[in-house]
Amino acid sequence: MQIFHSHKPYIIAGPCGAEDEQQMLSIANSLRNMPVHMIRAGVWKPRSKPGFFEGRGEQALPWMQQVQAISGKPVCIEVATREQTELALKYNMDAVWIGARTTVNPFMVQEIADALKVSGIAVLIKNPINPDVELWSGAIERMQQVGIENIAAIHRGFSSYDTTTKYRNKPNWAIPIELKRRYKDLPIFCDASHICGNRTLIPFIAQRALDLDFDGLMIETHPTPDAALSDAKQQITPNELAILLEQLIIRNACKETTQNDIEQVRQILDTMDAEIVDIIGKRMELVERLGLIKKENNMPIFQQERWREIVDSRTIWGEKNNLDANFILKLFELIHDQSIQTQLDFLSKSDL
Ligand code: PEP
Ligand code: MN
Repeated sequence: MQIFHSHKPYIIAGPCGAEDEQQMLSIANSLRNMPVHMIRAGVWKPRSKPGFFEGRGEQALPWMQQVQAISGKPVCIEVATREQTELALKYNMDAVWIGARTTVNPFMVQEIADALKVSGIAVLIKNPINPDVELWSGAIERMQQVGIENIAAIHRGFSSYDTTTKYRNKPNWAIPIELKRRYKDLPIFCDASHICGNRTLIPFIAQRALDLDFDGLMIETHPTPDAALSDAKQQITPNELAILLEQLIIRNACKETTQNDIEQVRQILDTMDAEIVDIIGKRMELVERLGLIKKENNMPIFQQERWREIVDSRTIWGEKNNLDANFILKLFELIHDQSIQTQLDFLSKSDL
């Protein structure tokens, strides 16, 4: 059985970085009897700027082996180069993860894939730092191509220049959901720590991931988070992790009656969606007629006044139906853009 399918949710915990032997032994002892299925630690840390803790390198690998022995659990580290990958294999790591800064680079991903070939090791692939599903799935396919059988993806959020967001790396749930659609047996985990960047937000994001049927969680756990040499703000203690795991609501009800109720509601939703598509089609036919009138009267296709009117009136209608103003705006932006495009196409066709 695929290792990452052995439990749901599959929990990966451990510090951002392996700092010293004492810290790693303490983590192994704390996590040993907890519902944690794999222990992580960064041995080579990718830092945005030089001069910060960059990990202990090869020196930390025997500590990881001690963690394996004490906890009886598999361990994973991050690799970003051929040399690091070879060392991970030499020290019998059970899994490696490909970090967000590496997934963006097909050369590096291929180099790692080639070094891992026929090793039987498990691989976790974080999303690239930019919201690009093709890069993410490209990295997965490079691992599949060299015969890696145990693969999981990790959503760790996306970098953004938006200074108003409360997240370190904003989640974009539509992207992992699209990945799941493409690879239906691929386990997808959520790295709540790197999404949040701040320990207070972690329970909310972890629960959100489970509500969206993610298969597991990665949570950075440190014996003394505030003294951590990297990512201090987002790490939690093993005790805090135990409380978090206890409080998470696991939605796995799949009883037949529930399934029947769901099916019934889905049938109604299908009928409604068919009506929505039908009416949008009819709206577009009318839009073509409008295009003709505008053309005959030499009027511009886009009219600012009309667009403002549409937004105002639809927002009011939306409010009456308890629909969020922002949702209505996005919906009509899509419909209006398509209407404008239809009229422009019509204009250029009838110009010929
Ligand atoms: C990490 O997991 O410690 C890490 C560096 O992650 P990411 O690649 O998601 O930034
Ligand atoms: Mn980290």
